[in-house]
Amino acid sequence: MADPRPKILVVDDIPSNVHVLSRILKDDYDIYFATDGEKALELVQARMPDLVLLDIMMPGMDGYEVCSRIKADAAIHDIPVIFISAKSEVEDETRGLEVGAIDFITKPISPPIVKARVRNHLLLKRQADLLRSLSFLDGLTGIANRRRFDEAMLREWRRCARSHLPLSLIILDVDHFKAYNDQYGHQAGDECLRVVAEVLSERARRSCDLVARYGGEEFVCLLPETDGPGAALVAEGFRAGVAERRIPHAQSPVAPYVTISLGVATVVPTVDGNPESLAQTADQLLYQAKRAGRNRVQDAAVAAL
Ligand code: GH3
Ligand code: MG
Ligand code: MG
Repeated sequence: MADPRPKILVVDDIPSNVHVLSRILKDDYDIYFATDGEKALELVQARMPDLVLLDIMMPGMDGYEVCSRIKADAAIHDIPVIFISAKSEVEDETRGLEVGAIDFITKPISPPIVKARVRNHLLLKRQADLLRSLSFLDGLTGIANRRRFDEAMLREWRRCARSHLPLSLIILDVDHFKAYNDQYGHQAGDECLRVVAEVLSERARRSCDLVARYGGEEFVCLLPETDGPGAALVAEGFRAGVAERRIPHAQSPVAPYVTISLGVATVVPTVDGNPESLAQTADQLLYQAKRAGRNRVQDAAVAAL
């Protein structure tokens, strides 16, 4: 699939300036425009442009303020901002860069320079986006990695605390996986982990559910807005799903195929509570599942951690 055309937001209170920039860029990019700061911020949130071309002098909220607000909001602060301004003193440019702009172009503009700089900054943005997305993926299985999970955990903990909704966590571990590696080899072990990741991804269906590799042969599934019984049901689906794949495991004392053990913990988070406590509880329950014979789900509702 071809990459979608990059989106550029042009902000200038004088419509003819917007028009000039649009004419230069519209063949290569999707152009959005705003003629005041408030509208610009609304459009940044709504459209998530790849680049913002921002005038400084505007009635009401000026360009410096717009840029500062973009850079202060974690949801949009990665969007590069280029000032395009008639203000050409060193102090103006310095201030623009200080509030977080990536570049500064002075008016009157030269179309080839604007084109070239826009192209360069969009290329850098695309590389940064790609790196960021790769840095959140587990290389072996292609699902989310521990870093992504830690971030989601913090975000969902806060969100569920605000809305007084339960947050559930499943931690699971492949049973007797050392013996599996010993018998079938490390490559077969890797392939087995890929299959487990696939089963988990298939079975955690809601868009806010997050399946991640926690490390080694351990996986987690974060289930926002899900109570204990609901999470236990998902966990049982994981257990059955892996068992149903019938991946041969001759050395396992549990079954002649690969199985997993799971711990499920649920909490209604509080704002000052500790997200790590949820993982600790789930981990203890996983340990109990192992001790109780493996290939099983261990759950316990925990009212407040
Ligand atoms: P238990 O049922 O108690 O979990 O026993 P186990 O053998 O699964 O547990 P243990 O922690 O002793 O062994 C885990 C094994 O998982 C050892 C390690 O080599 C293997 N392992 C961890 N990460 C990977 C990986 O990325 N690929 C492969 N092939 N093996 C891995
Ligand atoms: Mg194991
Ligand atoms: Mg383990």
